[in-house]
Amino acid sequence: MSSSLTRFKSPHTSFAHAVEFGDWKVFVPGPVPIESHLLAIGNQQLPYNRTEAFSEITHEIQLGLLQLFQTEGSVALLTASGTAAMEAAAINFLDVSTKVLVVNGGTFGQRWSDLCTVHSIPFEELCVPPGADIDLSQLESILLKGRFSALLINAHETSTGHLYDIEAIGKIVRTHGCLFVVDAISSICADPFTMDAWGVDVCILSSQKALALPPGLSFVALNRRSVALLEKRKPKSLYFNLKDYLANQLRGQSPYTPAIGLMLQLHQRLADIQSQTLPVLVAQHKQRAEHFRHAIQDLAFAVFPSRCSNAMTALACEGMDAGQVVERLRDHYRIIVAPGAGSLKSKTIRVAHMGAQNPNDVGFLTQALAEINATSRRTKR
Ligand SMILES: *Cc1c(COP(=O)(O)O)cnc(C)c1O
Repeated sequence: MSSSLTRFKSPHTSFAHAVEFGDWKVFVPGPVPIESHLLAIGNQQLPYNRTEAFSEITHEIQLGLLQLFQTEGSVALLTASGTAAMEAAAINFLDVSTKVLVVNGGTFGQRWSDLCTVHSIPFEELCVPPGADIDLSQLESILLKGRFSALLINAHETSTGHLYDIEAIGKIVRTHGCLFVVDAISSICADPFTMDAWGVDVCILSSQKALALPPGLSFVALNRRSVALLEKRKPKSLYFNLKDYLANQLRGQSPYTPAIGLMLQLHQRLADIQSQTLPVLVAQHKQRAEHFRHAIQDLAFAVFPSRCSNAMTALACEGMDAGQVVERLRDHYRIIVAPGAGSLKSKTIRVAHMGAQNPNDVGFLTQALAEINATSRRTKR
């Protein structure tokens, strides 16, 4: 204990410190607090992975992942952060000869554009104001005019808290025959998501959001259509050659050394989700989100996005600087929330409903917000 005190000189910003001392309350949208029995698995010596026993674990993980995505296709498991899975999706299916439409409603939509730029993939953007919904008829007419080969979107734009209607967008995308690529990193497990039923061809998830594991694993799910399409594509990366991952996974292995410890944690987490059931896990996030939004409804914090994910609530701070709210929560209450991203930094705060949260801590947070609200009203008078 005392040695970590000296190691983390800035306790207010140290997540490790927060967990270790238990009295920090963490509500950031990833990495999220992890259940202790899962943390304990990460504390064990690693088994050798080139064995039958480990192949068995990998096969079980694959079945669990197919259920999370709700697809009958395949899921490639990468040792990398979520952005790497986005990059893998882009470079395995897109190139200079394709034309892509990116829905850009925040910093994660922007990331799709950045990936296209880096890899010389021609793209156009459908820019959506932060927190606003996509205009489906506008999307329809852009797709009609443009002859696009793919649409890239984030299910939940985590920088604004907005949740796009992937089912409705999928219906439109399907009629134009383009590849539908969805980054659902901060949505799956928190919001309903059915990949095959919604016509999503390629879908991305990572470990540190509603899956509530440490960061380091990410997943590229392919439906049957994109599995077939992948067969015809020439790989442009060694590490991110998805064909290689799918081929190795058939025998329960991966081409390169995976994050074995994280996989064991994932194996347990998927078993937990299976016994709890995915709909119950989603309902738990919904209940947390609704409870929080109800508790702050009389304060000068307005829910920012027009369509919210259960994973997080972005709040517009009316008449207050959001950065100061974040600091006050940290310094006076030992509560960590995230500031808004990009242009929203001084306008919004973001409160996640993911991970191992204690209902009492949520009560403490809403109380703290009420006090900050009252103080700011008093000083204004
Ligand atoms: C967290 C997140 C990512 C991935 O971020 P990494 O830091 O690379 O894991 C990508 N997209 C969305 C929507 C996210 O919320």
